[in-house]
Amino acid sequence: MNKTKIIATIGPSSKSKEVIKNMITEGVDVIRINMSHSSFDDAKDVILKVREINRELNNVTGIMIDIKGPEIRLTNLEKNKIKLEAGNTIRIVKNNVVGNSEIVSLTLPDVIDYIKMGERLVINDGSIELNVLSKTSDTLICEIKNDGYIKSFCSVNIPDADFNLRFLSEFDRETIKFAVMMGVDYVALSHVKDQMDVLDINDLLIELSDDHIQIISKIENKNAIDEIKNILKVSDGVMIARGDLGIDIELAKIPSVQKKIANMAKESGKICIIATEMLSSMQDSPRPTRAEVSDVANAVLDGTDAVMLSSETAVGKYPIETVVTINNIINEIEKEIDYNSLLLEYNRKEKLAIPDAISYSAVDCANRVNASVIVCSTLSGKTAKKISNCRPSASVIAISPDEKTVSSLTINYGIIPVKVPMLDSTDEIIRVSVKTAKDVFKLKEKDRVVVVGSFPLETVSYTNFIRIEEIKE
Ligand code: PGA
Ligand code: MN
Repeated sequence: MNKTKIIATIGPSSKSKEVIKNMITEGVDVIRINMSHSSFDDAKDVILKVREINRELNNVTGIMIDIKGPEIRLTNLEKNKIKLEAGNTIRIVKNNVVGNSEIVSLTLPDVIDYIKMGERLVINDGSIELNVLSKTSDTLICEIKNDGYIKSFCSVNIPDADFNLRFLSEFDRETIKFAVMMGVDYVALSHVKDQMDVLDINDLLIELSDDHIQIISKIENKNAIDEIKNILKVSDGVMIARGDLGIDIELAKIPSVQKKIANMAKESGKICIIATEMLSSMQDSPRPTRAEVSDVANAVLDGTDAVMLSSETAVGKYPIETVVTINNIINEIEKEIDYNSLLLEYNRKEKLAIPDAISYSAVDCANRVNASVIVCSTLSGKTAKKISNCRPSASVIAISPDEKTVSSLTINYGIIPVKVPMLDSTDEIIRVSVKTAKDVFKLKEKDRVVVVGSFPLETVSYTNFIRIEEIKE
């Protein structure tokens, strides 16, 4: 079973129960709903379908709500697609107009105040670049730098602008309330600029008495890269959102930024997701390009917890084939990972807290005795995450009586979350651990299972034992 997790975005191509079920059966671990393109009713419908499928398959699939965040778009155009020609000029005005090739307006008109002469505007995901030639209080006059198309409500990026849009819009607030009400596992924050943006969401979650949702900050602009250390401190994980990031920074810088952020996330014990255009050509073709296959494999070698599919599964022609393909690529490249050196890399600190020491030792022990599985009995999920963070060669089964704990582990590398009844003795923990390992994997006689847990539960709040079991019969 693969260790690197797969996140699939739902859209028109994949919102039917049948397609979602097939994608989950083929290896999807987490379903993402992008609120830039979804209504609350549609999102609720998808969440209920995923829960139904989980019950039918006795499976655990995580749910991620991706909030829209502050974003600027063109307003409506006379035609859905309008050609702009290099060398011509176009006016961007504060008044709301129905746009054409000579005049357009923005969904957030007041940003015009903050844009200076000489600055760049990148329209429609990078297909058109404009340069501000001059401005008045309510108009920007821009030179069109290249031929291309604009579309109604297409994206507008202002990479060099020096302003901070208020992060939490009313719609985002409503989205987060909805996410809490629906009990989803992850909220992804679009266009985060610094740790304050993350803390605002954290405050809102506290206000709503939620202690389950994990915050994934999407790193998709220059400012977030500069602030990455502080953002990591206050987030549960980061997504290297290469779509918007590739507009804000030079494309050639993406691979090195990806490697650096993936490393930093792992070092701070936070989730890492690598996203966008992983198998882009599979939107229209049943086979990926060689370069895309290498890109997915590289993301795995960069040590990410998960890879994400966006348009491929949301609007592509081959959502299920794409999942099968990404699963196969992960499967092949994971055979090449040298887990012993990964653990050596991890072993930087001499002194560790008890749960960290137990987790590290369990992984070291499992690697040395060639254990097939590490089973971690966990109430909060913390120890399972620490074990995953050491990147063991064995798969990690996290058993917990808590449904929320189980679904909170769906993105972490190598963790197979399984809900079990409350276990009330060490013997029970060992028995259920071995049985679960045998149910999930076809274990043979003499195969080894490392069990990690804590007992007695009433008095010990941290993981305090490791045991090695050999399969009999
Ligand atoms: P999006 O984010 O799919 O919500 O735009 C991912 C990215 O920008 O890469
Ligand atoms: Mn984005």
